[in-house]
Formats: sequence, C-alpha cells, structure tokens
Amino acid sequence: MHRLREHACARSPFYGRFHKGLADRPLDELPVLTKEMVMEDFDKLVTDPTVRLEDVEAHLATLSGGDELLGGRYRVASTSGSTGRRGLFLWDPGEWATVLASYNRSFDWAGVGAGLTHRTRMAVVSSTTPWHQSARVGASVSSPWVPTLRIDSGDPLESIVERLGGFQPRVLVAYASMAHLLAEEQLAGRLRNSPGFVFGSSEVFTEQAKRRVEEAWGEKPLEVYAATESAGIASECEQHQGMHLFEDLVITEVVDENNKPVPPGTFGEKVLVTVLFSRTIPLIRYEMSDSVKPATSPHCPCGRPFAVIEGIQGRAEDVLRFPATSGGQVSVQPIVFHRVMDTVPAGGWQIAQEPSELTMLLSGVREGFTDATLIDSLRQELGAQGAIVPPVKVRHVPNIPRTTVGKAPLIKARVPGPRRKP
Ligand SMILES: [Zn+2]
Repeated sequence: MHRLREHACARSPFYGRFHKGLADRPLDELPVLTKEMVMEDFDKLVTDPTVRLEDVEAHLATLSGGDELLGGRYRVASTSGSTGRRGLFLWDPGEWATVLASYNRSFDWAGVGAGLTHRTRMAVVSSTTPWHQSARVGASVSSPWVPTLRIDSGDPLESIVERLGGFQPRVLVAYASMAHLLAEEQLAGRLRNSPGFVFGSSEVFTEQAKRRVEEAWGEKPLEVYAATESAGIASECEQHQGMHLFEDLVITEVVDENNKPVPPGTFGEKVLVTVLFSRTIPLIRYEMSDSVKPATSPHCPCGRPFAVIEGIQGRAEDVLRFPATSGGQVSVQPIVFHRVMDTVPAGGWQIAQEPSELTMLLSGVREGFTDATLIDSLRQELGAQGAIVPPVKVRHVPNIPRTTVGKAPLIKARVPGPRRKP
C-alpha cells in the first residue's frame, strides 16, 4: 500500500493534489474516490501522460473480441454503466497478469486444477460484449489445457442449453442468475451436464439459487466476488464458509454511508477498495456500491489467512424506499426481498418498483404455488418493515429481461426518488 501511494502521488497529477499533505495519514483518513472523479479527471489521474481519455474511448469502440492493445501496451475495459456513468479502466501487461491470476485463484482454491497432466473443459456463460472485462480476459487467455466454451448470457436459453449439452464442461462459470436458470434446466431434464465445479459471480447469489445448483449437480456452487476495477475481490474456498477476501491484492473496507467501518455480521452500505497492484490508474479508497457483510467469525477451517465475508446482498441502488406508516420514508434492504422470493419455486425473479406499484416478474414457475400467497407474504414482510405497501402485481414472463451485458437484476427501482449522494 505504501508503494502504491508513493507511486500515485509521484506519477499522477490528480493524486498529487488529492492526497496533498496526507502522505503520513493512515488509509482510513484518505478521501474517497468515486467513478465520477476518475472519469472527470481521467487524463490527470492516469500515471502514463501519453494516455488520453479520448484515445481510450476511441480504442474501446474498435474492439472486436480479440486481444487488442491500446498503444501496443494496455488492455482496456469498460464497466457496464448500470449504476450511472460508464467507467473506463486499463491495465499494463504486469497489471493484467495479476488480473488474470486473481480470477484463476477462485479455480485454484476450489481445487479445479488444470495443467500439463490433465485437461479441464470449461464453459463460461457471461458477457461476450467486447468491451466487457470477462470478454477481455477470455480473449487473452487461451490454452489447449483448458478448452473453453464462451457463451453470451444474453443468448436464448434453449441455445445456451444446447451448446452446453454438446460441450459437457467439467467447470461451469456463470452469472449467478444464469447458474440458477441452468440448474432448473438440468432438474427439468432439458440439460444433461455433470460439471464437477459450478462458479457463480457478478450478481447476488441467493440461497435458493445455491440450493438449486446443489440439487441439480450434487455439488455446492462457489461464489466469486469481482469487479472490473479491481478484478477478483473475494472467493469461496472448498469449505463454503463465505468468501475469503483477496487481501494481498485488494484492501476492502466495508463501510456505512459515512465511510465508517461496519461491525462484523452487519451489511455495509458500500465498499471502498484499494487495489494494491493498480499502477496505471491507481485506485485508493475507490467507492463501489456493493452491500457486503463481514463475517462474525473471520476464521475458516481451511486455514487460509484471508478474512471472510458472509455475503453480498446487492448494491445500494437495490435498496427500495417506501412511504412509512409512521410518516417519512422507510428503506427496505434487498435481503428482505430475497427472504420472500426464496420461497418461490421459480427459475428467475425480478422485483421492479414503479411509481405507483410494485411488479414481480416470475419465470419458470413450478407447481405448488399461487400468486396470491406470494403477494400476501410480500405485503406482510413489507408491512413488518413499517412500509405503506403499494399495489403489488405478479407477471409471469418467459424470461427475466437481461441487461446489455446479460445480467438479470433481482431488484430494480424505476422511481426517481431521493437517492443517496452518488
Ligand atoms: Zn476457507
């Protein structure tokens, strides 16, 4: 961290100002960096003065799925902009090697093993959009020892199922909602895969989704927490006791809205990440809106030294606000909705808060369930939170709509209500 801070202050005009006079202060006294600040001051923040935002943007627009480099040196990726402005990030070859290694660590911890003695067939169902980091990773990792099938999670489900059936992966990596959907396909007999390892990432991995994956393939899935900006942040080990933070690569502060650490066992409002290997774009106390819970017991029987987080309930944007029975407003955490929706035998769900109602989308609902029961339990749960419950509607849809990068958010607020400062 000391080396990172020195590098940032010496080589980035932005940090020279931002951290001026703070060289001796501990990390938790440094100012918080937001994506908006990175994008607004991009040219002054990068430590290579030849890198300019307009060139990065122009390069991004030319990506076509290969392993293209900016200026013969940098790999560029963009965040999807699902929470406001898109963020652009780039890595030199050394940083990129660490990015790849951080993703590989999840496989290593799970005991996947790949190498000269055995080949491991891997299927990745995520975004194949060329500017997305997972596509960039895919384009630069190509090994005969890990034959990999990459499928876009925005493709029609039947087509995904058909290709997976033909490929028979030993390792299946997917967005959490997709891992759940594929488990349902397996349990319904339409998919016949027998992966030894299932990894879910990039979205909230609900208890129900994990349970269905285990029912489908007899193995507990492994949850991975990663972001474009930081690459891998945390991952489950073979003990399934939560996710170990990659503390040697990223310092993760789980904080409340005032950037103060939250106690173990409590969901934070957001995380501040300090990416220890970042040099081209130094990220020090960079804010991400994920709501994460540090474990009450930081130790795991596996003996790994890294602290454990119990789970991720979503992003700050997933906290819905309702008028309160006692006046004012009440905030309802994502976990409240998970509790209700986990009882629904569905392949996918999404709760959308509209200006005057709450809509529940359900796909792939199995037997033994009525809309009325669900509406009732949701009303009760929201009532218990002190909310004035708006009209609730259930819509059965063939598929939960996916975003441009193929994710299926569980909770969507379409109400331009009062929001936290970005
Ligand atoms: Zn462990």
